[in-house]
Amino acid sequence: MSQPPHPEPAFERSSFVKPCGYCGARLAVFVSREVGSGEEHAYECPECGKDYLVHAALEPLVSVLEPRNDGKTDRYEETLF
Ligand SMILES: [Zn+2]
Repeated sequence: MSQPPHPEPAFERSSFVKPCGYCGARLAVFVSREVGSGEEHAYECPECGKDYLVHAALEPLVSVLEPRNDGKTDRYEETLF
């Protein structure tokens, strides 16, 4: 590979499709990862509010590919015990 050297810390952009385990929506999640960083950020499903964690250097961007398919309109609620 002949990539020019990066003077800045290398951010690696990637995206993946996340099916929401609560409401069934399909989310496109875009993250920037910093090489060597083990940082985690939370994002939530825009359809139901369920939280997910992802390894990322910055706040992930989330967009809805397919809306929820569980036929409900409730919000996911964390059970804090
Ligand atoms: Zn959801």
